[in-house]
Amino acid sequence: MSTQQDTPAWRRQLSEAIQQPERLLDRLGLPASLLPPAVAAGGLFRLRVPEAFVRRMRAGDPDDPLLKQVLPVGAELCDVAGFGDDPLQETGRGGTPGVIEKYRGRSLLVTTGACAVNCRYCFRRHFPYQQERGEDGRWTAALRHLAFDESVNEIILSGGDPLVLDDQRLSELSDHLQDIPHLKRLRVHTRLPIVIPDRVNDALLRWLSGSRLTTVVVLHANHPNEIDASVRQAALRLRGAGITVLNQSVLLAGINDDAETLCALSERLFEAGVLPYYLHLLDPVRGAAHFDVPEPRARALAADMAARLPGYLTPKLVREEPGEPNKTLIAPGSQDCEEFGQNAAVTGIC
Ligand SMILES: *Cc1c(COP(=O)(O)O)cnc(C)c1O
Ligand code: SF4
Repeated sequence: MSTQQDTPAWRRQLSEAIQQPERLLDRLGLPASLLPPAVAAGGLFRLRVPEAFVRRMRAGDPDDPLLKQVLPVGAELCDVAGFGDDPLQETGRGGTPGVIEKYRGRSLLVTTGACAVNCRYCFRRHFPYQQERGEDGRWTAALRHLAFDESVNEIILSGGDPLVLDDQRLSELSDHLQDIPHLKRLRVHTRLPIVIPDRVNDALLRWLSGSRLTTVVVLHANHPNEIDASVRQAALRLRGAGITVLNQSVLLAGINDDAETLCALSERLFEAGVLPYYLHLLDPVRGAAHFDVPEPRARALAADMAARLPGYLTPKLVREEPGEPNKTLIAPGSQDCEEFGQNAAVTGIC
């Protein structure tokens, strides 16, 4: 009867997420001078962060690497050449609504526009998503399309964050998907188990591990401080249910753009049963230019990681380019002055 009892813990934490900059600054004991820019930039893309993630931030530290991923700042208001609204050119592509087919054999289903957290560097900041994109009608069309296209053997649930949806709906979707004979794998791209570890509960594990399809969960964490005991436990539960668990990160200036941090992230992931998969160069999205790490610096970091870590703990450095048949691999490389060019002055490395 009581909705309190019927509502899973994660759903309550999600609905109580902090959305007012003032509340976040108060919660962490941060200076009031951060408020006006946070309000201004938050007007373009709203602040949103659950307490379970805030708990891993250091109180009183405006440079905390988790805080910087979520707090709106003045730099977001700057227009920088080359940073636009649709860097991946994914709007207006036609085809079946809610389905993105860019790579061979894999179809990506946009299940919802909602997320548990609003990451400041995300290209989603400019998408005119409705909160719930995966209306039943839309999935019907998407499922019909998938059933028809026998070249697809892997379905990727993405968004937004698919795990914002109730397990009831996800379970129904999963049932429909496993009825499509040519599908072999079900992949879920989600940041929820990082942001709200309680999201990994019995109901989730039931449909994820109960499918005929081989399941892969790709998490998204960028800094070792994101992986505390609760996240480790959640990830290990996924592993324990026979799911392959991978992680993708975004290389972010001032957050994880040093080899020490990136290596610590890989180690911490592995302790949680997770393998590093991709390290993405930032998509050039308007309002995120201050997170950009120049490619030569990124290549040097990749070389540094490769020299320090076992191969299986070294993520692939990639960039997504419109029109390419796969993500573009960026080779690790030395950072010499010549290729560094005009960025040398900015970072002062040479
Ligand atoms: C990244 C991505 C995929 C999956 O690519 P993998 O290299 O297999 O991880 C699929 N579809 C889209 C649109 C993507 O951006
Ligand atoms: S899609 Fe991923 S990166 Fe973007 S806001 Fe949602 S959780 Fe963050």
